[in-house]
Amino acid sequence: MPDPFKTAQNKLDEASAILRLDPVAHELLRWPMRELHVALPVRMDNGNTHVFRGFRVQHNDARGPNKGGIRFHPDETIDTIRALAAGMTWKTALLDIPLGGGKGGVICNPKTMSEGELERLSRAWIRQIGRILGPDKDIPAPDVYTTPQIMAWMADEYAFMKGNNEFGVITGKPLALGGSAGRSDATARGGIYCVREAADALGLKLAGASAAIQGYGNAGANAHRLAVKLSEMKVVAVSDTKGGIYNPGGLDYEALRKHKEKTGSVSGFAEASAISNEKLLELDVAVLFPAALEAVITETNASNIRAKIVAELANGPTTPAADAILYNKGIHIIPDLLCNAGGVTVSYFEMVQNASGYYWEEDEVHTRLEKKMKTAFKSVHKTAQQYKVHNRLAAYIVAIGRVAEAMKLRGWY
Ligand code: NAD
Repeated sequence: MPDPFKTAQNKLDEASAILRLDPVAHELLRWPMRELHVALPVRMDNGNTHVFRGFRVQHNDARGPNKGGIRFHPDETIDTIRALAAGMTWKTALLDIPLGGGKGGVICNPKTMSEGELERLSRAWIRQIGRILGPDKDIPAPDVYTTPQIMAWMADEYAFMKGNNEFGVITGKPLALGGSAGRSDATARGGIYCVREAADALGLKLAGASAAIQGYGNAGANAHRLAVKLSEMKVVAVSDTKGGIYNPGGLDYEALRKHKEKTGSVSGFAEASAISNEKLLELDVAVLFPAALEAVITETNASNIRAKIVAELANGPTTPAADAILYNKGIHIIPDLLCNAGGVTVSYFEMVQNASGYYWEEDEVHTRLEKKMKTAFKSVHKTAQQYKVHNRLAAYIVAIGRVAEAMKLRGWY
């Protein structure tokens, strides 16, 4: 696997060259502005104390407070966190949300930890990192293996530190603690709104068109439900870690949901045959949704991809070498920066609601999200045509241009 931070810097370099970005602005954007590395002593259930390592990276806050998730993962590295923090700077700028980019993490394996241990770790993280957080400074959210319950413990610990409730310090909270309606399916919903725009641009009819989804967690399963509900698409194949399933006539969402609830996997669903994850990616479908892992479309399989639209709900599913191959094949990529930005957009709506103390109906969240996604899609599409580049590079050009403008206005260069 290539170094994620190097890859992120390479993308910045490429877009900066096209933009003829000022060298000082470029240097400022190549590295995070601030990082905090912490040691977290946590009492485990067996009475021993384990010292966990945690991080928070604040990449750039020229456009507003830093924003980005917290990951709990055994293989967490500072370079992954740096790359993802930079990605949040671009994502918030691309969606034109007044926020910057951040990311945090703890090296731990939540699958082997009890609920009590997870709570103590979550509170320990906020006690250490809380000093650089705040609704006006940096606002974390759930990410890999962190949940609304973890956000609730963190919001509670922060309230103890401050002496008053400040729910706007963290998003992705449960509804009862200032969460936003429409947050749970916002990532998939934003992706579907983009697919509709892409189909319009390509003159493709979505009703009855086929889709395949790799990964069946929050993003993937909601993409199945919403592709059918909002666009009358036919989802013919889906997969998770245990394997994939395929039915050319379309997979029934409700029946599959019940099957997964019972067995823990999509695999073994009666109304479908088995398909490998590799074959799923290469199906002749209108839309392919990578919604699981990074680097699944590579130079090895890119020339076999037959989808007309690749909608990147996952972060980084396509390698740079594969990007060029898909572009030359005329496949329309909706890059991760844009396609999965619905989550951070509704997180921003959650902050706005927390600040005003007034909560919106779910319909209002959907309407505002759709408007934001459509506007961002159009700016990427227009920029791709203007510079004759693929959509990913276009997304970087739009985002970097906006952050550079804010830094210039602030007098940073
Ligand atoms: P999740 O943990 O809910 O689901 C991940 C799914 O991927 C699971 O079904 C898992 O079984 C499957 N999976 C893992 N390895 C696989 C493999 N080798 N082959 C096939 N399936 C595999 O995670 P999620 O929240 O749905 O996130 C998925 C992707 O979307 C990640 O890249 C994440 O960074 C990105 N994303 C999610 C959100 C969000 O709001 N959920 C926002 C932005 C980006």
